[in-house]
Amino acid sequence: MRPDILNPLFAAADSLKGVGAKLEKPLGKLGLTRVKDFAYHLPDRFIERRQIGALAEGGIGEHVIVRLTAKQYRASSTGRGPFRVVAEDDAGERIALTYFGRASYSAKKLLPLEEPRWVAGKLEQYGDTLQMVHPDHVAEDGGAALGQTCEPVYPLSDGLTAGRLQPLIEQSLAILPELPEWIEPSVMAKRGWPAWREALQRVHRARDKAASDRLAYDELFASALALMLVRADNRRRKGPAIQGDGHLRDKLDLPFALTGAQRRSIAEIEGDMAQPHPMLRLLQGDVGSGKTVVALLAMLNAIECGKQAALLAPTEILARQHHATLQEMARGTGVEIALLTGRDKGRARESILMGLLDGSIHIVVGTHAIFQESVSYRDLGLVVIDEQHRFGVGQRLMLQQKAKGTAHCLAMTATPIPRTLLLAQHGEMSVSQLDELPPGRKPIDTRVVAVERMDDVVAGLLRHVEQGKQAYWVCPMVHEHEREDLAAAEERFDTLKQVLGPDNVTLVHGQLRPEIKDENMARFASGECAVLVATTVIEVGVNVPNASLMVIEQAERFGLAQLHQLRGRVGRGAAESVCLLLRGQALSETGRERLALMRETQDGFRLAEEDLRLRGGGEILGTRQSGETAFHVASPEQITDLLEAAHDDAQLLMDRASSELEGPRGEAARIALYLFERDYGVQLLRGG
Ligand code: ADP
Ligand code: MG
Repeated sequence: MRPDILNPLFAAADSLKGVGAKLEKPLGKLGLTRVKDFAYHLPDRFIERRQIGALAEGGIGEHVIVRLTAKQYRASSTGRGPFRVVAEDDAGERIALTYFGRASYSAKKLLPLEEPRWVAGKLEQYGDTLQMVHPDHVAEDGGAALGQTCEPVYPLSDGLTAGRLQPLIEQSLAILPELPEWIEPSVMAKRGWPAWREALQRVHRARDKAASDRLAYDELFASALALMLVRADNRRRKGPAIQGDGHLRDKLDLPFALTGAQRRSIAEIEGDMAQPHPMLRLLQGDVGSGKTVVALLAMLNAIECGKQAALLAPTEILARQHHATLQEMARGTGVEIALLTGRDKGRARESILMGLLDGSIHIVVGTHAIFQESVSYRDLGLVVIDEQHRFGVGQRLMLQQKAKGTAHCLAMTATPIPRTLLLAQHGEMSVSQLDELPPGRKPIDTRVVAVERMDDVVAGLLRHVEQGKQAYWVCPMVHEHEREDLAAAEERFDTLKQVLGPDNVTLVHGQLRPEIKDENMARFASGECAVLVATTVIEVGVNVPNASLMVIEQAERFGLAQLHQLRGRVGRGAAESVCLLLRGQALSETGRERLALMRETQDGFRLAEEDLRLRGGGEILGTRQSGETAFHVASPEQITDLLEAAHDDAQLLMDRASSELEGPRGEAARIALYLFERDYGVQLLRGG
């Protein structure tokens, strides 16, 4: 149960004054659904303003507050251009206050002729006059009426203005309770950090490193603590010690020899499964490193002991592909492998559920559908989770609960995770690395191409297809509105169809009905169709060895980790593979650096480290896609700086409070876990 003291923070957004049905959607887009979300909606930056006596004191580009008197209105002659208010400062110097669109109507009201007003905004030069475009504030008297000279700038969404959001944030800050302190007092003292409530109020007022660090630390601490609780709980649990005799694995007829890294990982997994506690292991291996066969061997190990295994995939496409691959690989073993997705209904579904219950199905592959209550197993011994970063720890625990908390768990990820983040995001697990690719993989020729050369790229694609080879064409999801992104992908789909012929191109994106998506995907996978136009749904796992060209549009919009994942879709067959990164015109420094790195290296770990570093640089554009960290408050820089200390602090608390979070600081720490929604950690406590 959530501690009462937190209840006001978890109240729904519409308990704030001014939140009605109309704001629900724009607020939801920003994740602002509860009061606490507003308090934790932190400014991107601050506008620092200076109050000046005359325009001559301000610099071009500076944000100022100055007293001005409107002298003249100038509407554009066509009626379509901007509306200008010509105004004078007290010294008689002139400036144009420029308004576009609907704002023109209010300009006259805000700035009546011959009446002085305090105006806040950014000074710009326009030709040989000064101008201010859309002044931020206009007030009748006193610069102070314009609010702080330091104004927070918040992330906004369509339909939500700063003027609307600001008072909601103010309300949320006003009701923050005082919370008991969960941070070690010596840490607080050494770093000079404020208490929680004060810290949260301060970060909205001005740039404040101490306050911001404290809040980031809270999040890292809660996360580390929750993972430690999971780990401790796991050690206490009994699990079936599984040691298969190899009779099924002997029947496997693999067309290749395992790599050294695969053999080592399998040995580590077998070692864990032989223990009388549930395994918690993360198998980390770059795209194409061969995780599937490792998973299969672990599953066969369980089945040899009369257990069942479940493989959870993040998407339906991937579940289908896994199902097909496993069936193919395990053909000679007689193992029964079923596929269960949300789409299976009626009798087919019933028969799978029966098979899981009576044990005639040994392996089930599926999406979240295998979580559902109606699904019961006879004896689930191993849960494999592919692309584990798509699922939260909470979801994983839920699946384990299905096996009465005793199933072994193997999580897999192709996302190379920098060491610092590994501890933060997967600190509860042991890690096996597949740091060696199967032999014979050829490097992928990666080139950066200006989008102006689109015609050449399309001509190249045509030649590629004429040679009987296949290609991916990826369009990014970059717009505020998903519809616009889909329009872009569909438009590309149409133009490519015109060049390559309508039967040669297919399209996959998230908005398609699942059966259409699968059908299109299958046409590409079978080779019937040469080109797959896709949004990033192809990101994980898809394996089509005959595809040897990858084109990524607006590549600068993607994070490095994601570009790396996408590129990993090619280079899987015998042919030389090419990856073309199309770049737009407005290329930022960071964007440029990312693309250069992609050209330079194919080492996923190096790219992951660089990704973290570049994101730490605070670039805003293009980060939406760059792979999420599990943190909302802590920035990549703060993760790097503070994680280890937070981790140690959590460890210390675990030791002192005997991993049951007893005593006053233990109580406080529980509050932190609930606050950061890491309460699955608390629920594992014996008394929790
Ligand atoms: P990922 O780690 O990305 O899930 P997969 O398991 O899909 O990789 O394997 C990628 C490809 O490599 C598959 O076609 C698989 O059959 C092949 N493969 C896996 N292990 C080996 C190996 N030891 N030698 C050669 N090919 C392998
Ligand atoms: Mg895979």
